[in-house]
Amino acid sequence: MKIICIGRNYVEHAQELNNDVPDEPVFFLKPDSSLLRNNDSFYIPDWTKEVHYETELVIRINRLGKYIDKQFASRYYHEIGLGIDFTARDVQNELKKNGLPWEKAKAFDQAAALGKYFIPTDNFPEKNNIQFKLTINGNTVQQGNSGLMIFNFEEIISFVSKFMTLKMGDLIYTGTPAGVGPVKIGDHLEGYLEDKKMFDFFIK
Ligand code: ZN
Repeated sequence: MKIICIGRNYVEHAQELNNDVPDEPVFFLKPDSSLLRNNDSFYIPDWTKEVHYETELVIRINRLGKYIDKQFASRYYHEIGLGIDFTARDVQNELKKNGLPWEKAKAFDQAAALGKYFIPTDNFPEKNNIQFKLTINGNTVQQGNSGLMIFNFEEIISFVSKFMTLKMGDLIYTGTPAGVGPVKIGDHLEGYLEDKKMFDFFIK
């Protein structure tokens, strides 16, 4: 199983990190060892001083495919979940500056938090109008809507599958909206997809 993450998929988030808005999806991988599930606590690693939350819609691939045409891409996922792409921003900034790959900042243990549930796509009246949000200690810090994605689910699947075969169970984190920020010890994170609470855990 692999975890594919899309970077810079919301205009306002690209701008808040002073990145250009891309003309094709930017993607990177996390290993399965980075998964954080079951509302387990997230432990800030001792080698970073700045871990950011990035709340993202997650789709789960349900069949094998490569070079998938955009018009058929909706057949390759039937469920949507919510997760956090934890990012050691200080480390990432250093790697970016030196033109190095991002794994140290993105692929570490627990860096891919995943909600407890996946919701069938049929439950959403419009796939391009799905609301989600993150609260920390009860305050909303990030709010997103799938309609604001630069590349929608089908475009992402089609693009990524040109380069790597998608397999059943693969997860795609589809990018974060604006409002990313640091977590600190003791923070209480709760994520919502529409009205449903998808995860609820603490930072330690
Ligand atoms: Zn992200």
